[in-house]
Amino acid sequence: ASEEAAAKANAHMAETDAPTIFDKIISKEIKANIIYEDDEALAFRDISPQAPVHFLVIPKNRSGLTRLSKATEAHKPLLGHLMWVAQHVAMKENLGDGFRVTVNDGPNGSQSVYHLHLHVMGGRQMGWPPG
Ligand code: C5P
Repeated sequence: ASEEAAAKANAHMAETDAPTIFDKIISKEIKANIIYEDDEALAFRDISPQAPVHFLVIPKNRSGLTRLSKATEAHKPLLGHLMWVAQHVAMKENLGDGFRVTVNDGPNGSQSVYHLHLHVMGGRQMGWPPG
C-alpha cells in the first residue's frame, strides 16, 4: 500500500511542457554520471537506482516528446535510436544475461519527469509483474 501511495505521489507531479531537470543534465548545468553520449542521445545513471545497474536514455532534443504517447510518425527514427542506445550501453555495462527497458507514460505510468526517457535496469533477477 505504501508503494502504491509513493507511485501516486510520484505521478502527481503535473505534466508540463516546461524544461525539466534533464535539460540541465544535457547542458551539463547539473552534474550527472553520464555513461554514453552522441549527437542525439544521452545515457546517465539514475540517481535513485532500482537495480545494481539502472541508467536512463534520453533524447538530447526533447522535440515534443514530453512522454511516449506524444510520439508521431516523425519521431520513429529517434525512438529507434534510443532503443539501440539502450542495448548498446547495456552490453557495455555487462548486462549480457538480460535487462529490462521501461518507459513510464503519464499519471498511470507513474511518470515524474516529462522528458521522454528509457529506464534500463539489470544486474539482478527482475520480477514480473512490475508494481
Ligand atoms: O519514469 P519517471 O519519470 O518516474 O523517472 C524519472 C527518473 O529520473 C527517476 O528514476 C529519477 O530517479 C530519475 N532522476 C535522475 N536524476 C535527476 C532527477 C530524476 O536520475 N536529477
